[in-house]
Amino acid sequence: MSVKDITIFNNLTRTKEKFKTLEDGKVRFYSCGPTTYDFLHVGNARALVVGDLIFRILKTVGYEVNFVRNFTDVDDKIIERAKEEGVDPLVHSQKYIDECLKDMASLNLLPATHTPKVSDTMPQIIDMIKILEDKGFAYVVDGEVFYHVPLFKDYGKLSKKKIEDLQFGKRVEVDSRKKNPCDFVLWKPAKEGEPSWDSPWGAGRPGWHIECSAMAKTFLGPEIDLHHGGIDLMFPHHENEIAQSEAANGCTFSDHWCHNEFLNFGSEKMSKSLGNVITIRAFVETYSGEVLRHILSSVHYRSKMDWTKSIIERAIGEIERLHVFYKELMGMPRTDKESQKDFDQVVSTRKKMEEELSNDFNVPGATSELFSLIRYFNREYISNLGEGISEKLFSELISLLKFYSNATGLLYDNFDEMLGHINHARKSLCEASEKLTDEEVEKLIKDRKEARATKDWSRSDQIRDQLNEAGIVVKDNPDGTYSWHYK
Ligand SMILES: [Zn+2]
Repeated sequence: MSVKDITIFNNLTRTKEKFKTLEDGKVRFYSCGPTTYDFLHVGNARALVVGDLIFRILKTVGYEVNFVRNFTDVDDKIIERAKEEGVDPLVHSQKYIDECLKDMASLNLLPATHTPKVSDTMPQIIDMIKILEDKGFAYVVDGEVFYHVPLFKDYGKLSKKKIEDLQFGKRVEVDSRKKNPCDFVLWKPAKEGEPSWDSPWGAGRPGWHIECSAMAKTFLGPEIDLHHGGIDLMFPHHENEIAQSEAANGCTFSDHWCHNEFLNFGSEKMSKSLGNVITIRAFVETYSGEVLRHILSSVHYRSKMDWTKSIIERAIGEIERLHVFYKELMGMPRTDKESQKDFDQVVSTRKKMEEELSNDFNVPGATSELFSLIRYFNREYISNLGEGISEKLFSELISLLKFYSNATGLLYDNFDEMLGHINHARKSLCEASEKLTDEEVEKLIKDRKEARATKDWSRSDQIRDQLNEAGIVVKDNPDGTYSWHYK
């Protein structure tokens, strides 16, 4: 199968480049996965969905993709949480790996080719540290192994940071055992009660960065085509991955690097619309996984995204329009009458969608092309149901929808079930927005009182309606005081 050309914004060069792979038609793709110490936050979902979109699009354009997404199951936070709960750290992390797999399924993530865990990759991790030590890049102090950053001449090539500047910034927290403040831990000795593995440096466990270097090498080889992660991982994590892999393997680690931007939860609107719903699980239960996936796919991965109530509303509306269209199309009668113009419209939309997806994974661009087509067909056909649709046009439309579904994971065959989820999401959104805190109610009542005192009747009525919508009744007492209760 031939592969279509695509371009990717490569963070190594900070330019959009034509994507070339080491082997024709094959991609070796690594994406940094989650640390499993608790339920994942909605913010974690963006990297998961973006990694999945990249995986799907690469497959859609014809690549055979070997995709590795790891689980960090050995980590300080995991050990801390496990201690608090009095359970074994590996049992604790496995519990949250299982929960994470459920979240991934509800976000319609395709399973990666490999999902290695740190605890299963220990021999390869130890091997790599040994190589770094033998090559002189690592040194040992009291059973702790450090990577000596200044020896790696290309350090900073991804993050564009200079060692001199970093040294200055790190002076305050310097560990006297380090030869340079930028040096980082590859292996640390076990503390009492912590999980540990035997190694040439004594019983201990790896530092965080080395796992990705070792896992990428194990499942993809010393050099890979594409590495992805959240922008927060670019420094120091990815920079350290490069330093470890390139020093140990003697070749380029990854030819392309791409990073997704943050989800911004800073805005006031977000707390209003989400309340305490901050885990993926809670969001999925309240609004459904499809809504979350749609939200996270509605903005280009390199753009920052503000979490607001309106993005939930918009996603709900769009999912509904997509699936109503799909459903109505499936129910349309056939006619012998052909329309070349409409057929050409579908073919050209497909082409434009392919171009968008091939242009640095522009999923929102492809979705917007599809919506233009849906608007056109809603005008020409759906409102004119009696006329029906030709078999040829129907097949082309279905093929287009399948293509979109495979490439983005945003369209589902079970449209009736999906429309049910949308109803539920809409109801939840309504409840979330109507809920006022006691302080908010008090504030509104005070505002209303002031409005009445200044004879601002329209403002006073507006507040009364708002309270009424939230199910609150205000009673004015004859002595000028007031009381309120829920209906
Ligand atoms: Zn990583």
